[in-house]
Amino acid sequence: MHQPIKAEMMQAFEAFYDSHWFVLGERVKAFEQEYSHFNRVDHAIGISNGLDALHLSLLALGIGEGDEVIVPSNTFIATVLAVSFVGAKPVFVEPNPDTYNIDPAKIEAAISSKTKAIIPVHLYGQACEMDTIMQIAQAHKLKVIEDNAQSQGASFKGALTGTFGDINATSFYPGKNLGALGDAGAVCTNNSQLAEKVKELRNYGSKLKYYHESIGHNMRMDECQAAFLSIKLKQLPTWTIQRQQIANWYLEALKNIPQVKLPQTNADATHVYHLFVIQAIGRDALQTHLMQAGIGTLIHYPIPPHLQNAYSHLGYKQGDFPIAEKIASNCLSLPIWPGMQEKDVAQVAEKIAQFYTPA
Ligand SMILES: *Cc1c(COP(=O)(O)O)cnc(C)c1O
Repeated sequence: MHQPIKAEMMQAFEAFYDSHWFVLGERVKAFEQEYSHFNRVDHAIGISNGLDALHLSLLALGIGEGDEVIVPSNTFIATVLAVSFVGAKPVFVEPNPDTYNIDPAKIEAAISSKTKAIIPVHLYGQACEMDTIMQIAQAHKLKVIEDNAQSQGASFKGALTGTFGDINATSFYPGKNLGALGDAGAVCTNNSQLAEKVKELRNYGSKLKYYHESIGHNMRMDECQAAFLSIKLKQLPTWTIQRQQIANWYLEALKNIPQVKLPQTNADATHVYHLFVIQAIGRDALQTHLMQAGIGTLIHYPIPPHLQNAYSHLGYKQGDFPIAEKIASNCLSLPIWPGMQEKDVAQVAEKIAQFYTPA
């Protein structure tokens, strides 16, 4: 995906190099405009990475010590780390076993008098059931922070992910659907006050250079990453269509293998296939079989947050979140990238079929 845009990227790098301005400048401003337009929000704020974008979103909402924040039990650890960074406690809610997204029907049971916010994660590229989640949040006066790191361009009932919550975070880590050539992220919101707060907090708590309003951070976006992202953002709609086409090829090619559970999309949601995740009987042996055929796969994620050593102090054990644990034991992410051809998909599917029906 980088080859066809190489000349344009190199030109942008040269212009950046000659500008002698390296952090938070006109390129970041331009990208913020373009991304807010793409995501149909009033404000997009360039941040150092997705984890910092989540962290600053929580800080801007004033969430901290003594508060609880609801997170899915099957997310990437960064969602949970951000909650810990502000001193709040993560409270896990199980996903829907078919869509892998947080199950709205299980959220209310996790709400206590200390709950301040919900962080729905649009996992693997599929939008969460945002209408129900927003209704629950309103009924209980909770804030919503979408973790949109994996789902730029996905939608629920026609509205884009990253537009529902009070304040939303995304990541431009190189492997994401929209990736920089290094670390980067963004906060998106329609709330001008929260936008101003995040701008202050990302820049040493300062609005005016050397005058500090709060104990802020250095969590800013680099100029060169903004320049690269502006170029790649123009390609994102095309890349998304390609990912969806590849997913459709997989869904067709794998539909008659009973040992493989295919990804399912909620009828009201779209899926931008950041990952194409199956659940497979004999997952580890299948992964080895594919590796031996030269096909790389990954596991997203092998250990759910509640069983990570980092969270042993919360006192959870195996069996506490069985749906998340089952996904962790059986999931396998098949190769998917913009530009992948139908014959590549056929080859992966053939090797999977071969694994279950040895000659
Ligand atoms: C990648 C990711 C993050 C963190 O983004 P970074 O830019 O890597 O810090 C957070 N949440 C989810 C769901 C992610 O996939």
